[in-house]
Amino acid sequence: MLTRILLVVALVYSGLGYTSSETNPLTEVNLQLKWRHQFQFAGYYAALEQGFYQQAGFDVNLLERLPGPTPIEQLIIGDVDYAVVGAGALVYRANGVPLVALAAIYQHSPSILVSRYRKLSELAGKKVMLSAGIMNAEINAMFESAGVNFTDIKVVPTEQPLQGFIGQKYAAFNGYQTNEPFYLEQIDIPYYVIAPSDYGVSFYGDILVTSEHQLATNPEGVARFRAATIKGWQYAIAHVDEIVELILTKYNSQKKSRELLTFEAKALIELIHADIVPIGYMNIERWQSISDILKTAGVFKQREPDLNKFLYSEYLEKGPLDWVIYYKIELLLLMAALLGMMMMVHNSRLKQTIKERTQELRQAKKQAEIDARTDVLTGLANRRHCLEVIEHDLSLAKRNGLALSVIYMDIDWFKKINDQYGHGAGDEALKKLANILKRNVRAADTPARVGGEEFVVICLEKDKQSASHLADRIRTDIQNTKIHYQDVSFNLTVSFGVTAFSDGDSVDKLLQKSDQALYEAKEGGRNKVVCI
Ligand code: GH3
Ligand code: MG
Ligand code: MG
Repeated sequence: MLTRILLVVALVYSGLGYTSSETNPLTEVNLQLKWRHQFQFAGYYAALEQGFYQQAGFDVNLLERLPGPTPIEQLIIGDVDYAVVGAGALVYRANGVPLVALAAIYQHSPSILVSRYRKLSELAGKKVMLSAGIMNAEINAMFESAGVNFTDIKVVPTEQPLQGFIGQKYAAFNGYQTNEPFYLEQIDIPYYVIAPSDYGVSFYGDILVTSEHQLATNPEGVARFRAATIKGWQYAIAHVDEIVELILTKYNSQKKSRELLTFEAKALIELIHADIVPIGYMNIERWQSISDILKTAGVFKQREPDLNKFLYSEYLEKGPLDWVIYYKIELLLLMAALLGMMMMVHNSRLKQTIKERTQELRQAKKQAEIDARTDVLTGLANRRHCLEVIEHDLSLAKRNGLALSVIYMDIDWFKKINDQYGHGAGDEALKKLANILKRNVRAADTPARVGGEEFVVICLEKDKQSASHLADRIRTDIQNTKIHYQDVSFNLTVSFGVTAFSDGDSVDKLLQKSDQALYEAKEGGRNKVVCI
């Protein structure tokens, strides 16, 4: 499933262009041949020797068939990357083996029946030697197609077929059009070739296959390997003698003669039908008919193969919509996963936003609370907060027997300042006074602006005398501080009324007393501190 998803992604994103890999190091690739070295594999030798594989970025090892695992098994266990196999590979695909057919080299299989009789029907009652197994399915299908029942002939198992035929032990045997006839010609034994294609049974010959995994993980590499192979075959067809020579010198593990190799070449090249179709050509209809024949022969155990998954051309030819339909389940899962991820991201973003908004609201509330207690112009406590503090400090003083004093102040002749220098200068003077208060008081003292140009300092743990000293310090500081505003500068004086809490005093009483003291300071000539 994952492989299929990867394949979709890989095919969509990689494109299938033929790119030169000259600058990259070569990738080592193992190609498992179907049999021992012979002309049957001419195209692969040509692709290697002519450097087509190298130009495509591959260092190819051509492995001839040896006893042991079959080419398909080698492919599946991952020992090789590509393999040359028969059309019977379709049976493996039906059983779930993830094979992909890249190219059919031979448009017809060289599988034939070598017979002493011209027609299949004449073999009724005679001994016929047939090799067993699915790879022989086309011969079986040919009998079926001809209406010759296996019960009508005497099938005997494989044992030195050529000698048996020569010694007249069998009336016919299955062989390769490219091989046995040559020997029979040499010793002048008469024979007929009965080909499955004569009976409408037409299988592809050698098929170049790879694994679904290889295609999914390296689709571009597969395209390059296939193209280089086809190029090799084109070269081989055009240079038969040269390839025969090459096999004789370099690949002749079977010690075949030049004549046999030439015979083989001629017979095989006919089966490629390069004059009619592009080399490697396959179509799904033909594979379907091969599949139907194999089905009739009863070789599919559980289910028929899915040709869409078997044919490379199907992977390539699919348009975007086909891919959507073909991989609908995977795409749905992918979309569901993406949707899930998006929702998770959205949820966490939502949570983050809620958290941020909550913090903002908390902050705003806190700010609103501060604003409600703060005088905008000076940043001091406002009247409301001043009363809260006096109330609080008064009960604290009462409970704990602490001293508490209040300094009340009012700017002298402030109206005049406004009149003379303007309202902006007046504001500047208010701010300056606030700063003077701030720099003269301790942490336990609370300075506040309680009216237009009236200020209070609440002094917890200060008796009347210390509060009076503080007031005088402030008074002097103000008196000595020049106020600058735009191009004017001026001085300011302030009158102070100081009072201290004594038993039984309420907030109102305390303020009233300090107000009275302030009044007396004004009356006494201003710029004064009066204590009551
Ligand atoms: P005194 O207190 O010495 O008797 O004389 P005064 O001129 O200060 O008299 P009063 O306290 O009655 O006048 C207060 C003036 O303060 C009235 C107004 O013009 C001014 N004022 C009040 N609030 C503000 C303010 O926020 N900004 C400015 N620029 N002026 C203010
Ligand atoms: Mg006033
Ligand atoms: Mg005043």
